[in-house]
Amino acid sequence: MSQLEVIHEIIEASTEHQNLTITCVDCGEEFTWTAGEQVFFHDKGLKNEPKRCKVSKQPCLFIRRRADRYTVAHVS
Ligand SMILES: [Zn+2]
Repeated sequence: MSQLEVIHEIIEASTEHQNLTITCVDCGEEFTWTAGEQVFFHDKGLKNEPKRCKVSKQPCLFIRRRADRYTVAHVS
């Protein structure tokens, strides 16, 4: 059974979500996917479980925001 199937089992079995430990594909560190994040994820109808920890996500988001600002500055 895949991790995602396990998550669906948990969601269907009960409204109580449990914190899950996932290994980050970028840095190999284990991170916690909290019950609250799972509820948000499920509410959004998202299909793919998170694969990267917040530490690994941050630089990407930072670069994207800078890129957006750069684009806006050059359009206006
Ligand atoms: Zn990571």
